Amino acid sequence: MTDHRLRITDNGLRITDYRIVCLAGGVGGAKLAAGLAHIVPPANLTVIVNTGDDFQHLGLTVCPDLDTVMYTLAGMANAETGWGRAGESWRTMEMVAQLGGPDWFSLGDLDLATHLTRTQLLSEGQTLTAVTHHLCTHLHIQPAILPMSDQPAPTMIESDGRILPFQTWFVRERWQPPVSKIILPEDVKATHAVVRALETADMVIIAPSNPFVSIDPILNVYPIRALLEDVPQVVTAVSPIIGGQAVKGPAAKMMQEMGMEVSATAVARYYGDLVDLFIYDRQDEGAFEERGEAVAMDTMMVDGDGRVRVAKEVLHASLNFLES
Ligand code: GDP
Repeated sequence: MTDHRLRITDNGLRITDYRIVCLAGGVGGAKLAAGLAHIVPPANLTVIVNTGDDFQHLGLTVCPDLDTVMYTLAGMANAETGWGRAGESWRTMEMVAQLGGPDWFSLGDLDLATHLTRTQLLSEGQTLTAVTHHLCTHLHIQPAILPMSDQPAPTMIESDGRILPFQTWFVRERWQPPVSKIILPEDVKATHAVVRALETADMVIIAPSNPFVSIDPILNVYPIRALLEDVPQVVTAVSPIIGGQAVKGPAAKMMQEMGMEVSATAVARYYGDLVDLFIYDRQDEGAFEERGEAVAMDTMMVDGDGRVRVAKEVLHASLNFLES
């Protein structure tokens, strides 16, 4: 059965009236979200972003994943680091260091404007959802970017009997302490906007983000996991593990330390029945043990064209799944 709301033309895929929700962390999530934003009309695209990494620093509310997604969609992200802004300078941090302040987490001079504005608006009583909308509007970002919750939902890392706030483990200790457990808060509720987006979604795409510290914190927010189980159409996940390794960051190290095999197969098993369609990289084709629906493609997004190509192929595969 052909769905007339979605058309494939000579120029690629044109999606009309098809509601797509992307679940995203920072770097991997932002790249796929940016690719999707090139293809999907803005009114039909919602990106739900992990806020488990958020923390207070220098008196400011810092939301690293929201900022990475925002800067990437606004075309102002630093392509080399994968986080922060392009064309950044660091004079404030130099002065913080000189004053003996906490300089282990770098906030660039331009980036600071985001945290200052966010913190000011939050202090006036606005929700994080409203503040994010405000920032996106002023950055001319059209698709909806939604924090997973308006409540704080800090992820904690258990290591050698210590319990570390996520950024202490990730940045201050350079994700070296071995992870024995990831502790996610109980009783965090999704916003109305998140619930509405998922209830009306035709397609949910889990970006190639860290499954444990980017995607799980989103799924843990009530009732997001249950809503995903109810999505009438398709939930597609893209593997962050390519060639048996993480492209960037601690995903592979965490898998090892938590006693898992480091592979795309292990990620697929981890998501289990929540996912209808699993997308893994061609590099893993020989090793991938199929269980359920899975498609191999080149999932590495090295530049803007790569993001659009992967987004297009992910949509294509999801559409094929829906029509099969
Ligand atoms: P973080 O919150 O900034 O760590 O970012 P995410 O959780 O969104 O993304 C980190 C994950 O993205 C890592 O596990 C990487 O392996 C994965 N990743 C980064 N770039 C790519 C890419 O181009 N393709 C794929 N498939 N995965 C990627």
